[in-house]
Amino acid sequence: MTDCIFCKIVKGEVPSYKVYEDNKCLAFMDIFPKNEGHTLVIPKKHYEIITDAPDDVIKDVIVITKKLAKAVKEATNCDGFVISNNNGKHGGQEVPHIHFHIIPRFKEDGLKYTWPAKKFSEDQFRQSADRIKSKL
Ligand code: 5GP
Ligand code: ZN
Repeated sequence: MTDCIFCKIVKGEVPSYKVYEDNKCLAFMDIFPKNEGHTLVIPKKHYEIITDAPDDVIKDVIVITKKLAKAVKEATNCDGFVISNNNGKHGGQEVPHIHFHIIPRFKEDGLKYTWPAKKFSEDQFRQSADRIKSKL
């Protein structure tokens, strides 16, 4: 993708603070970090959302995300960390190139979860589960 910012980072056309690179994956610092150490892990090849990519690409990215999470945890001495992956504009994805966030969390870092839980009946749970199972 010629106009994808992360593809440009892969090609070195846009600068980034790289922390890891192999044939298939790249990890670099998020330019608008939620906390110190906020890192992004991407496949070098362009896929928009997680379901677009072949399984082997996702396996590679997840394994590297785990490796980076350990390094981020040790480097920042964080109390916990979040690994997240947004998909689609309405799934909160701003950059349409698959990426996993590693966000260190600290005891009193002031970040808040803002998604209240919805209430569903037993029937609704059962129907949701059935609809999903029918797509597997
Ligand atoms: P999303 O909302 O798509 O899950 O996350 C995209 C992330 O990419 C955001 O956290 C944003 O700060 C980061 N980002 C956007 N543009 C750039 C860039 O040019 N360089 C880097 N390093 N990060 C970027
Ligand atoms: Zn891309």
